Amino acid sequence: MIDGCGREIDYVRISVTDRCNLRCVYCMPEEGVPLVSHCDILSYNEIQKLAFVFVKLGIRKIKLTGGEPLVRKGLPDLVKQLKQVPGIEQVTLTTNGLLLGEQMENLALAGIDGINVSLDTLNPEIFQQITGNSGVEKALAGLFKALQYPQIPVKINCVPMGVPGQDLTELAGLAKEYPVHVRFIEMMPIGLGKQFGIRKEDDILTELERQYGPYEVFDGKLGNGPGHYYTFPDFKGEIGFISAISHKFCGQCNRVRLTSQGYLKTCLQYDVGVDLRKILRGGGSEAELMQAVANAIGQKPVGHCFGEDAGEHVERHVMAQIGG
Ligand code: SAM
Ligand code: SF4
Repeated sequence: MIDGCGREIDYVRISVTDRCNLRCVYCMPEEGVPLVSHCDILSYNEIQKLAFVFVKLGIRKIKLTGGEPLVRKGLPDLVKQLKQVPGIEQVTLTTNGLLLGEQMENLALAGIDGINVSLDTLNPEIFQQITGNSGVEKALAGLFKALQYPQIPVKINCVPMGVPGQDLTELAGLAKEYPVHVRFIEMMPIGLGKQFGIRKEDDILTELERQYGPYEVFDGKLGNGPGHYYTFPDFKGEIGFISAISHKFCGQCNRVRLTSQGYLKTCLQYDVGVDLRKILRGGGSEAELMQAVANAIGQKPVGHCFGEDAGEHVERHVMAQIGG
């Protein structure tokens, strides 16, 4: 599927819930998001039905997200259902890790192809400050459980916030000890993220170099997204950066997003897209769904304009409702 700007779209992030067991200060308000009734959320069968439509239009990779996807009952069943869709090459998951320890075995049995664990710090006090929860040990237990499955690649995603005590160097050190890539994701001014600044990639690299020695640019390709990577001496994994603001990569954007209520969103910054739930539940045929998806992708915005006035179609949801 080629969009109106000539970009190939082969990746969809599917949010299965906007509920979460954490309250990361840049993502989810303390009081949570307005509760959506279960019947307004797409069922697993509906998500699978849409996956059949997506694959016919060239989508090959799916990332399951939330809110926290593992708070939705039976997530491994959805993984299994999506793995049954011919043409889907990868079904991966992004999670805060708290429930990963108890669900990893079933996810592996279901055929999950990769796990991203979002972890901003190893320090229990800073974890509490960022997430409102004391569960850093539980998140780490989830991460280590995932690492027991060497056939399933694991990445750690960290949003550097510039808060005193956020131990980015120690966190990066996980890639020295374990075969895991640690990626620093630039804070995006969406929802609650607007109130935070960004930490510059060069500053973080200088800190890491001081501790771990000189780095080299990693030339290979890792993952489905726009990350770029560096190799440090004696590290088992790479160190990555995903910098949507300082290294704008909209020209290579390969993705769309499906919210838990079935809205296909074609750009992170705008509310533009199409309500697929309405078509699905209105009895729309597969051909109608395909047409709707193709039209929406055809009108995918050229790119974000963070820092400028995005106009009437600017996204008003918080990240937990979008899925990151
Ligand atoms: N709960 C899951 C998790 O934390 O991985 C999935 C949903 S979460 C919205 C997905 C990713 O979005 C997380 O890695 C999180 O750090 C990131 N995120 C949330 N708000 C963000 C923001 N304002 N800027 C950059 N990344 C953000
Ligand atoms: Fe929840 Fe993930 Fe958002 Fe943190 S980043 S509040 S874990 S959805």
